Amino acid sequence: MAIGVLALQGSFNEHIAVLRRLGVKGVEIRKPDQLQSVTSLIIPGGESTTMAKLAEYHNLFPALREFVKMGKPVWGTCAGLIFLADKAIGQKTGGQELIGGLDCVVHRNFFGGQIQSFETELPVPQIAAKEGGPPTFRGVFIRAPGILEVGPDVEVLADIPVPYNNNIDPNPSLGNQEESTAPGERVIVAVKQGNLLGTAFHPELTADTRWHSYFLKMVDEIGGATSSSICAVGEE
Ligand code: GLN
Repeated sequence: MAIGVLALQGSFNEHIAVLRRLGVKGVEIRKPDQLQSVTSLIIPGGESTTMAKLAEYHNLFPALREFVKMGKPVWGTCAGLIFLADKAIGQKTGGQELIGGLDCVVHRNFFGGQIQSFETELPVPQIAAKEGGPPTFRGVFIRAPGILEVGPDVEVLADIPVPYNNNIDPNPSLGNQEESTAPGERVIVAVKQGNLLGTAFHPELTADTRWHSYFLKMVDEIGGATSSSICAVGEE
């Protein structure tokens, strides 16, 4: 099995290293035709405006949108989650292109600036039950987004209490939320919607490979469903 990793910018090497530890090849994707050589994709964390500019430069958006629409498994971490969201707010310059497909509204810098990055233990019982190991995951949040709203088909995998006053610039003209979220209020940080997985944190920066294993199982299951449906059609 080979997994595509969007390699325009950000932590793509780290994702490829985790895949290697799991015995899986990560294939760097930079051009639209390279997407045809893989059946699943990881979009790493980094900086989503820069990533969007590079994706535009390489004319990747139509191929990426098609990839998502075809039901192929895609996992976005941090900036990758922003990229996959149907709507992102909190941009300073009136918007950027997104791939979309994940029915949610994301705040790009929900927890504040780089200096407000943090780590926390995330309880994600469904994934711990499936993958074994300790009941929590170390969540590394680097100028991380938060998921403000989710559509009816989106499964919430994890939410956390906001660790401090996130002091978001209350300027609605920039598309920002009007009030910062009080410490202790919960915000969604991991979701799944069919073939799409989104995490606001960076599992590729920890030694815990269970999120990658979980995604590999999604790839297996979705691949399996596709081949059995082809089989069923052939048998009719
Ligand atoms: N908030 C960043 C952005 O807007 C993402 C940060 C990250 O990927 N670590 O792109």
